[in-house]
Amino acid sequence: MDLNFLNKNTPEGKGKNTKKAPKFSTNIAGAIFVFMVITALYLLISGTPKSPSEVPISDLAKSVIAGEVKDIVVESEDLTITYSDGTIKKAKKEVEASLSQTLANYGVKPEMLAGTTIEVKNPNGFGYWVINILPYLLPILFIAFFFWYLSRQVKGAGMQAFTFGQSKARITDPDDKNNRVTFKDVAGCKEAKEELKEIVDFLKSPKKFLEIGARIPKGVILTGAPGTGKTLLARAVAGEASVPFFHLSGSEFVEMFVGVGASRVRDLFKMAKKAAPAIIFVDEIDAIGRTRGGGFGGGNDEREQTLNQILVEMDGFEPNDKVIVMAATNRPDVLDPALIRPGRFDRKVILDLPDRADREEILKIHAIKKPLAEDINLKLIAERTPGFSGADLYSLMNEGAILAARENRKKVFQFDLIRAIEKVMLGPERKSHLLSKKEKEITAYHEAGHALVASVLPNADPVHKVSIVARGNAGGYTLKLPLEDRRLQSKREFIDDIAMSLGGYVAEKMVFGDITTGPSSDLQGATNLARAMVTRFGMSDLIGPISLEDGGLRPEFMGGVEKDYSENISSKVDSEVSRIMNDGIVSAEKVLTEHRKALDAIAHRLIEVETLEREDFEKVLIANGIEPKRKEIEKMV
Ligand code: ADP
Ligand code: ZN
Ligand code: MG
Repeated sequence: MDLNFLNKNTPEGKGKNTKKAPKFSTNIAGAIFVFMVITALYLLISGTPKSPSEVPISDLAKSVIAGEVKDIVVESEDLTITYSDGTIKKAKKEVEASLSQTLANYGVKPEMLAGTTIEVKNPNGFGYWVINILPYLLPILFIAFFFWYLSRQVKGAGMQAFTFGQSKARITDPDDKNNRVTFKDVAGCKEAKEELKEIVDFLKSPKKFLEIGARIPKGVILTGAPGTGKTLLARAVAGEASVPFFHLSGSEFVEMFVGVGASRVRDLFKMAKKAAPAIIFVDEIDAIGRTRGGGFGGGNDEREQTLNQILVEMDGFEPNDKVIVMAATNRPDVLDPALIRPGRFDRKVILDLPDRADREEILKIHAIKKPLAEDINLKLIAERTPGFSGADLYSLMNEGAILAARENRKKVFQFDLIRAIEKVMLGPERKSHLLSKKEKEITAYHEAGHALVASVLPNADPVHKVSIVARGNAGGYTLKLPLEDRRLQSKREFIDDIAMSLGGYVAEKMVFGDITTGPSSDLQGATNLARAMVTRFGMSDLIGPISLEDGGLRPEFMGGVEKDYSENISSKVDSEVSRIMNDGIVSAEKVLTEHRKALDAIAHRLIEVETLEREDFEKVLIANGIEPKRKEIEKMV
């Protein structure tokens, strides 16, 4: 088994901090509390003690005659009586009749009123109205408040309560400072950020663009390998622009019954338009946006309807809708051409795997909350991780911290990170996976075969580590790392790569005269590479510079596998592939026969110590007269 940074674990992205609806039950509890407070207040006011006891008007007349009344305040039919001894009582008179008239009816002579002050208060005073109307008004006010309060809560919850089970979009609120992601949280990706700044500008001040008649892109599609930060970047755009972010993954559209996907799309767009300016983000859009057509068997009806609905909605955008649709995919090749034609997802932003400098930046970002020991050198880690995506680096930092915590250390050390690199690449070591003596010997020769071929052939990557400790799915592994980041790979490198992959197979055959099932994945990898050389890279002289794989635009019912070239070419391809494979075998055989002594030495050393780090491995090479590849050391400092 040889591994060239394959099998990496992709972490569950940390970008899952979209806002969840605040618990609905707490809202209800809050509302009930408010209700109780209001009720109490109401009872307090409306039940204001009728403490001054009420006296009949006839008694009042008697008191007046007896000269015991000091003062009467008249408020329409209510009388407040203050007696000479200071007691206060209430009484009522007939509404139309005046007080003096009423009293006269009870035999009070005008002169008897001389000792009594009579004060008439304006019954239309504000206080009067409040006192009289409040009892009726309060319940109404309360009900209104209750509804207002609930609806406010619901809006805060991202309007989700109104759309139960409909669009399923998760909404990130721009005011949610904790979960806000900005461009600062995304390292590298300079060109992509540059491209997206324009979108941010538009969302921030749409007027400026609309006034000058500029047509704003409706759709932006982010493409790039898994874990390169597509989802992260889309969230960062929303965060930078401070607009609501509707997040939905393509597969969520599809998981339900026919017709629901399309209605979810309608819902989603309706909600977004209400909240405009806003961003709709459809993650993993290839789940619905695959090439349509075929349509045999109707198996894809649901997906097709969903896709159509998205197209319809996007076409229906008014320029001032201020809604931008972003989408992400790592399979741009399978997307329906209708999606990427102008006026729909016409902006394409490509995210590359990070280069060395970017990897260092990403590591720095994820190191922020981790206490690092003084010996940490992130630059070195970045150098050792070519081919890692942002997500791999995130999980590397995390694994490093876990290793440190498991050993009860308060800080993360460099060697934690170095061990984490291998863990991310290969999965955890399986020390318990014991090999029999014979198996151990076979595995040792197999890995030694890979390692030796890689060390001798000029265009293969140098070996960093050889091990016969089982790891992930591999029985053993040879770790080789390219000298530098490469965008381009040459034919010579491919040829040596294939020979190196076959080194294990050749060694087993040479030493034991038999072949195990061990090299099956080596063979598969090498064959795939050889086929790609012939059909995609034009690296076969016999076939010439033709690409026999179109961009995946064939309708899906053809399975995307069927070759659409002639039988003649097809058989030529097959013979070219097997020629390349045979050349690989020959070249591996040549190396291993020539350096048989070194092969034995490496294998024996492996059986002894199980794992050889680069320095030890190179000592064995030198002892057997092979000059290790060193050029990278000078280059990297
Ligand atoms: P994708 O959607 O492209 O598969 P994600 O955006 O989900 O990848 O990335 C997964 C995680 O990897 C992110 O949450 C982040 O922690 C990390 N990551 C990826 N790219 C970067 C980057 N350029 N800068 C910082 N972190 C990154
Ligand atoms: Zn192998
Ligand atoms: Mg993603």
